[in-house]
Amino acid sequence: MLRHLFLSLSRQPHLRRFLESSPAARPLTTRFIAGRTLADGIAVSRQLAARGISTALDHLGENVTTEAAAIAARAEILAALDATGATATPAPSPSTVAIKLTQFGLDLGDDLCLRQVDPLFARARALGTRVEIDMESSAYTARTLAIVKQMHAAHGCVRAVLQAYLYRTENDVAELNRLGVPVRLCKGAYQEPPDVAFPRKADVNANFVKLMETLLGEGTDPAIASHDERILLRALAYARQRGLPPERYEFQMLYGIRRQWQQRLVDEGQRLRLYVPYGEAWYPYFMRRLAERPANVLFLATNLLRR
Ligand SMILES: Cc1cc2nc3c(=O)[nH]c(=O)nc-3n(C[C@H](O)[C@H](O)[C@H](O)COP(=O)(O)OP(=O)(O)OC[C@H]3O[C@@H](n4cnc5c(N)ncnc54)[C@H](O)[C@@H]3O)c2cc1C
Repeated sequence: MLRHLFLSLSRQPHLRRFLESSPAARPLTTRFIAGRTLADGIAVSRQLAARGISTALDHLGENVTTEAAAIAARAEILAALDATGATATPAPSPSTVAIKLTQFGLDLGDDLCLRQVDPLFARARALGTRVEIDMESSAYTARTLAIVKQMHAAHGCVRAVLQAYLYRTENDVAELNRLGVPVRLCKGAYQEPPDVAFPRKADVNANFVKLMETLLGEGTDPAIASHDERILLRALAYARQRGLPPERYEFQMLYGIRRQWQQRLVDEGQRLRLYVPYGEAWYPYFMRRLAERPANVLFLATNLLRR
């Protein structure tokens, strides 16, 4: 119920405009969002690197409606890539950036989007890092994966994201494994109809475990993106049983979520990357985090009352 409510709210443009420009809303977002500027994202990235945690910097933004906004997003990400390249921190793996293709005009056409993202991959390759392409709603899955494959063939420094709630993902895992494309596996954060995604959480979890084991066994540098304790324990047990060294895979979590588990993984010598969002366009991302856990709403309400 609450999940549907917050996912519907995440697509409300009027509420989005109002809240993103409201100074009163800003302090409430700090649990999940590193700050408003690239400097804020880099500062968090440096702190995490000092604790042995890598990052994927995400300049918040999605579904832009003008070419100018897509071009501006490209400039932002080029600056983020240069900044991560210059961080020179002791993190176990280089910092990466995460992007959403609708941030680069996918709604305005594939060619326009490709013109914006191709230079990002060229820059990432020159810097010895990679670009992770987040997966958005199922309306974009096929087009996103087509661009992933194009960037993989042209530059090689891409990681795709696949969502365990989609029926199609088993085939996508097999294909990306065959092509040697690294995959970040997550459960999936959007509202999807029952003809494209498992409606029951138990089925999503079972599919996640199945796909995770395929990726760990056969994938290239897979990333397990979850805060679900049962899944984390299962991944650790699988890696132990198969004798997989931690360099063969990584865990990923979102900034601000399950901090004790983050520390535990690092203490156990596992590779961990945190997804660190920053920027002004925080509303859809923030609402998806509320949708994932109703207790977050309580946390928010308590903070509001304290003010
Ligand atoms: C690094 C990373 C990248 C992601 N990229 C994408 C993407 O590109 N596309 C996409 O659709 N989705 C993405 N997601 C989101 C993902 O699909 C899930 O919606 C989200 O991770 C919640 O699923 P879970 O595996 O943590 O399990 P859940 O079963 O949802 O949660 C397990 C436990 O984790 C904790 N938890 C989970 N979420 C929250 C939260 N928001 N606040 C507080 N506690 C929480 C709770 O204790 C919960 O009981 C990403 C997630 C991660 C970690």
